[in-house]
Amino acid sequence: MQFIIEPWETPSLAIAGMTGRFPVRHVFCVGRNYAEHAKEMGHDSSKEPPFFFTKSAHAVVPVGAGGVTLSFPQMTENLHHEIEMTVAIGREGKNISAANALDYVYGYGVGLDMTRRDLQQVAKDMRRPWSFGKDFDEAAPMGPIVPAASGGHRPDGRIWLKVNGEVKQQDDLAGMIWNVAEQIAFLSQYYTLKPGHVIMSGTPAGVGPVARGDTLLGHIDGLGEIEVRYTK
Ligand code: MN
Repeated sequence: MQFIIEPWETPSLAIAGMTGRFPVRHVFCVGRNYAEHAKEMGHDSSKEPPFFFTKSAHAVVPVGAGGVTLSFPQMTENLHHEIEMTVAIGREGKNISAANALDYVYGYGVGLDMTRRDLQQVAKDMRRPWSFGKDFDEAAPMGPIVPAASGGHRPDGRIWLKVNGEVKQQDDLAGMIWNVAEQIAFLSQYYTLKPGHVIMSGTPAGVGPVARGDTLLGHIDGLGEIEVRYTK
């Protein structure tokens, strides 16, 4: 194959304890998946079917042990943090049952669904797509994937995010309205899930603005921490 411009590198994530990397194909993000977060966004927490939006694999920023420094995104004055568990899909399948869904998980990690909340709000108000609010340069910082084969699955565990050392978001993974198996079952009715897909599994309450110069520290029990610093 001869390309007429230089092809780009496949976006990828580190794997904890291994030198090989996890190639990222595309990112699916579930909305309003913790009850208190649904309420803070102005919705009730009744169990309506889940909904998803997506981010390009090219929005993924791998975050290593020393953290990462990112430029403040363009065209927003209301950048928000959303700490989320990432779910790396390792097998192809469609119409997967929730009972078998975790067999399709390669591993889990810590991620940030960064959001240009002002642009998302315009999109909501005007009944337009969320893409500009959610899928932009460096919108998905993600830490290494911890393989389920060694680290197990993650039905519960603390998830929190600090801004400049102050806790802003915290909950337990068990607080998800739709658990990971249910998310996979639902998505696989609409898409062929493939190795390299990553699901961002929703954010707890406490989302809020990030200013130039802020430092974000995200944590999930058993999956480690990621630090993201924004330039002034
Ligand atoms: Mn989110």
